[in-house]
Amino acid sequence: MAHHGHHELPELPYDYDALEPHISEQVVRWHHDTHHQGYVDGLNSAEETLAENRESGDYSGSAAAIRSVTHNGSGHYLHHLFWENMSPDGGGEPTGELRDRIEEDFGSYEAWKGEFKAAASAAGGWSLLVYDPVDKKLRNLVVDKHDQGALWGAHPILALDVWEHSYYHGYGPARGEFIDAFFEVVDWSHVADEYAKTTSNHE
Ligand code: MN
Repeated sequence: MAHHGHHELPELPYDYDALEPHISEQVVRWHHDTHHQGYVDGLNSAEETLAENRESGDYSGSAAAIRSVTHNGSGHYLHHLFWENMSPDGGGEPTGELRDRIEEDFGSYEAWKGEFKAAASAAGGWSLLVYDPVDKKLRNLVVDKHDQGALWGAHPILALDVWEHSYYHGYGPARGEFIDAFFEVVDWSHVADEYAKTTSNHE
């Protein structure tokens, strides 16, 4: 039994209007129901194409389909994390082991946040806080599209979408205001869970 084409749009862990006033109901609806759905559909379609090409033995379209898997699959996975790492009960600052690790790897929480915001201001897609299992430390990444700027093996634990569809309807060109609003809804308990999961796999 093949497992291609089976991806589904995950439900939001809160209501569409739950992140207001920081992120509007309209933006969450468009972003989740249309944009995220589009990446799920694109991933399924590309996987179906690859399976058909394996059946027929005609691989002329396979390289393009593999590129589509990378783009749409990365889009799907990062949006899933993005929705999960926000909450109407979010905000504040990290605590516990995650806080300690941020301070160890970046010097201070403020230094991490300053660097993450710089990444988010410059990115053509996403800023990510990742755990790098090779160096065994946290890093910020600047991601263009969904997949350009990846560090192989690194596991994202916090994702911020800075594609224009993520903020333009609410904030216009004031991306910095959207980045500040994002910090009002970051669910640090979810980030800590992701950190604990990935470090237990690698340390
Ligand atoms: Mn998006």
